[in-house]
Amino acid sequence: MESVLVSACLQGVPCRFDGRGRASGAMTAAIGERRPVAFCPEVSAGLPTPRRPAEIVGGDGHDVLDGRARVVDDTGHDVTDEFVDGAERALAAARRTGCTEALLMARSPSCGRGTVYDGTFTGELRDGDGVTAALLERNGISVRPAPRD
Ligand code: SF4
Repeated sequence: MESVLVSACLQGVPCRFDGRGRASGAMTAAIGERRPVAFCPEVSAGLPTPRRPAEIVGGDGHDVLDGRARVVDDTGHDVTDEFVDGAERALAAARRTGCTEALLMARSPSCGRGTVYDGTFTGELRDGDGVTAALLERNGISVRPAPRD
């Protein structure tokens, strides 16, 4: 059976920064007959739940991977290393399970695809990808934002 990597929080796993998760009916429909591989890059890298919210400052996930931007939480603590480590673990999980596609949570500095929060912690968005979405894309995994309910 074909497998698809999915953001664990959208499978109901309580791994979000606020300690919550939310199963998504639209996500279930998008997965279809495929086997979902639920994965949370941030928790896999050892970040706690709950945790301070974090955003990419100075660019998007591609800029983080290229060393031009960093990820910080809302106290200014740098969590770039953890976000990159989580992205690498997500890529390893996708390869291990044969996923060629990922359905990831919109706007997240890890999982976001197409738009992410802009680093000002004001709810504003910018074009770009999260760190995990960027690394998966660079390695041939097709990344789509999860549909919203
Ligand atoms: Fe969900 Fe991804 Fe954030 Fe984990 S890193 S809580 S899977 S959006």
